[in-house]
Order: sequence, then structure tokens, then C-alpha cells
Amino acid sequence: MTKGVKIILICVIVVFAVSAAISLYMLRPADSKMVSVIRDNEVLYSFDLSTAENQTIRIDYEDGGYNIVEIENGEIRISEADCPDKTCVKTGTLKSEEIPVVCLPHHLILRFSDK
Ligand SMILES: [Zn+2]
Repeated sequence: MTKGVKIILICVIVVFAVSAAISLYMLRPADSKMVSVIRDNEVLYSFDLSTAENQTIRIDYEDGGYNIVEIENGEIRISEADCPDKTCVKTGTLKSEEIPVVCLPHHLILRFSDK
């Protein structure tokens, strides 16, 4: 193996290791179980998922739109919405502190809150 090939190989391994570490960091389970339901910087609801009972909350908006937020077995998600893209519903349950569940058309955000 020539020196050049070795250097390239080492670079590839380093890049792979760094990206693996970053994805593990992004996907790690959240430390906090406190979540907030936020709309336009206003906290509508806060829950401690470790103690919250299973429940369904319907949030209605002035323009007739709505989101349905569901807490089930310590997990929170948007189970239903009338937004056009349904990205919020497709996102599924809230898992990471870095990646909130967002409904852009309704400005609604589910995210883990600071302790
Ligand atoms: Zn949505």
C-alpha cells in the first residue's frame, strides 16, 4: 500500500467515524421528559411525559384549522391535523431534543423543554 492510499484510507475512516458520532448524537434519546406544546412562542401546554396520562388534546385555530396532539404511553405526537402537508403527523412521536415535531402551516411545535 502506498503512502497516498493510506492517507486517503485514514481520511475516509475519520470522516465516517465523525459522521457516525454526529448521527448518534442527534438520535440519542432525550434526557428530559418535559415537553412543551408551543405556538408563536407561546407555551400552550407543558407535560412531563414520565407521569402524563394518556390523553388527546384538540387545538383549534381562528382560521378553522386544528391539530390533535396525543400522549400515549409516555410518548407525544400530532395524531391528526388539517394542514395541507401533514408533515407534523408523518413525523410521528417526539424522540429527540434536536428535532422537534413541527406543524409549519399552524405554527405549532412540540419539543422537549429545558429542565
Ligand atoms: Zn401540520
